[in-house]
Amino acid sequence: MSKTKHIAVYGKGGIGKSTIVSNLAAAYSKDKKVLLIGCDPKADTTRTVVGKRIPTILNILKEKRNVKKEDILFRGYGNVMCVESGGPEPGVGCAGRGVIVAMKLLEKLEVFQEKPEVIIYDVLGDVVCGGFAVPLREDFADEVYIVTSGEYMALYAANNISKGIKKLKSNLGGIICNCRGINREVEIVEEFAHRINSKVIGVIPRSELVQKSEIEAKTVMEKFPETEQALKYDKLSKKIFANQEFVVPEPIAVEEFEEFFRTFQ
Ligand code: ADP
Ligand code: MG
Repeated sequence: MSKTKHIAVYGKGGIGKSTIVSNLAAAYSKDKKVLLIGCDPKADTTRTVVGKRIPTILNILKEKRNVKKEDILFRGYGNVMCVESGGPEPGVGCAGRGVIVAMKLLEKLEVFQEKPEVIIYDVLGDVVCGGFAVPLREDFADEVYIVTSGEYMALYAANNISKGIKKLKSNLGGIICNCRGINREVEIVEEFAHRINSKVIGVIPRSELVQKSEIEAKTVMEKFPETEQALKYDKLSKKIFANQEFVVPEPIAVEEFEEFFRTFQ
């Protein structure tokens, strides 16, 4: 069997990470064994794959002494294996620590022994604390993709994330542009990618099909498989799978970032 592909997707909260990774997982599930790991305290990465929210590892650990694999590992669309790390109550404790605990438990319960061919981590990126870097720092993930739109805050977060990636000397595989529909959006994101020494690996248009499928707790891939939007996720999944070009990013300096952003206004 070929080597497992370990992908981490980072980005600002609300930018569209979970939507993208759940659709990627659904796309890969057509011909691969997939493990999808939510590492966001929001714990909704896997909702559209399983069809409902699943219990988080941290919550289960609070409730039970002898946690079994079945307590935390759930199967969804296309037999995708799903887990959610969860996080502490807001204002209490470090959310990143939750990710560490979750990863340790996955190892202990031999979840990785299920031999997934693709493992996808969905990681919140605006809090660049040590814990959130876990999938990268502990060598769980080999390649990172950053999701951003052309908006200031999303790019600002993307730039910060690239600082973290550089520090960990990790492999950035590219930037995913999840469109919000602002002026010159793809151009802005392409220029940003270029400036940090990377490239745009995929562009996902804004589409009402995302909300329509989300309401039913389904991915676009499942609910609207024959649409342009599904095709975009499918195409992105193939590009990421075939990607061989990785860089250690060179983040933009703060002053230069302001200047960069102004040139597009
Ligand atoms: P994150 O995981 O980064 O916090 P989500 O994937 O949960 O973000 O997306 C946040 C919101 O944006 C969701 O309500 C989702 O429906 C919406 N969304 C994401 N991508 C798109 C898109 N391409 N078109 C329209 N809405 C989108
Ligand atoms: Mg999310």
